[in-house]
Amino acid sequence: MEYYYICSECGRRYKISRHIMVCTQCSQKQDADEPLRGVLEVGIEGKFNKKFNIFDLLPVEREYFPPIPVGNTPLWTPLNLREATGFSGLYIKDDSLNPTGSLKDRASFLVAAFAVREKIKDVVVASTGNAASSMAGVGAAAALNIKIFIPASAPQAKRVQSLQYGADVVLVDGNYDKAYELSMEYTMEHGVLSRNTAYNPLTIEGKKTAALEIFKQLEGVPDYMFIPTGDGVILGGVYKGFKDLLNAGLIDKMPIIYAVQAEGSCAISMAFKEGGFNKSYRSRTIADSIAVDIPRNGYYALKYLKAYGGRCVVVEDSEIIGAQKELASTTGLFAEPAASASFAGFIKVKDDIPSSSRVVLLITGSGLKDINTAMQGLISQTEKRRLTTKRL
Ligand SMILES: *Cc1c(COP(=O)(O)O)cnc(C)c1O
Repeated sequence: MEYYYICSECGRRYKISRHIMVCTQCSQKQDADEPLRGVLEVGIEGKFNKKFNIFDLLPVEREYFPPIPVGNTPLWTPLNLREATGFSGLYIKDDSLNPTGSLKDRASFLVAAFAVREKIKDVVVASTGNAASSMAGVGAAAALNIKIFIPASAPQAKRVQSLQYGADVVLVDGNYDKAYELSMEYTMEHGVLSRNTAYNPLTIEGKKTAALEIFKQLEGVPDYMFIPTGDGVILGGVYKGFKDLLNAGLIDKMPIIYAVQAEGSCAISMAFKEGGFNKSYRSRTIADSIAVDIPRNGYYALKYLKAYGGRCVVVEDSEIIGAQKELASTTGLFAEPAASASFAGFIKVKDDIPSSSRVVLLITGSGLKDINTAMQGLISQTEKRRLTTKRL
């Protein structure tokens, strides 16, 4: 197999190297406060059949991956939910079971392997919390030095995880977008490797493994998939994985993918409807992992949504909180708020989908990562019950 980078906007090709992150031409058009321009995608040359090994479809050789069990997460059958919803083909892809508790490990795994191969020791990342704790954990397994920039307001568990893994943690007085800016300044100044989502093309490529696993587990493609979306890198990565399979002739259709966003952080859904990104957009949601003002992979995500009949659905914080509790209490899977959004999105649009469809809910992170929000959810639900009882 041969691998190269190809610009998602102009199609220009580059050799994969630590010195190239975005298209040198298209990135010149970059404005402040808009998604990244010139996002690079990994192109593949070579044939593979349906017995492919996932490592063989990644641009770094298997021997460089650190010894930590990322991916291979279960696709399981939530029988109670199938019964409650009437969807006999409902599945859960449980990526909360990754080593650091989120799907972000898939991207960190590939970036770490690349760093090892290139003999790079220092990796920097800006994050709402999960990319940070993920890079810290997977980086620890690869003996890398990890520096992270996260909002001081990030859930405590994600900070504690990062520190336990031995990362150098910089708490930023501001939101994720501010942390992103500071990390980029640091990266430019010190010439270290950035794992910033979408900016490092390997983050998109690493996340495609979720799609490749689903293909193997289902022995085909699902009809529908629900993906919680902030920056749009998981969404883009999953699309990329299915596109690799489509190009190889192993599948003959793409799934219909729903990008699920929080009502207070829905830049991609708005752009999907209105055509462009609003530069002064400010996000606000309890689902911290999908809270972004500027979705870094916005253009790339939109391109895929449009090309393959994707859809957007927006859910309120209260629906996310409700979905979190319902998912946990009916399936035994306690997901963080952002991850519960995929279930909330499914509940919202399920009447638009034939109930005989094969549907995959992508659960991206563990509920133990943010117990405060979950606790608040319990309190407000009890409160609501108490108030309604009183009224009766
Ligand atoms: C990062 C993350 C998301 C969203 O991924 P994007 O690539 O930013 O769209 C969803 N859920 C969890 C748990 C995450 O950590």
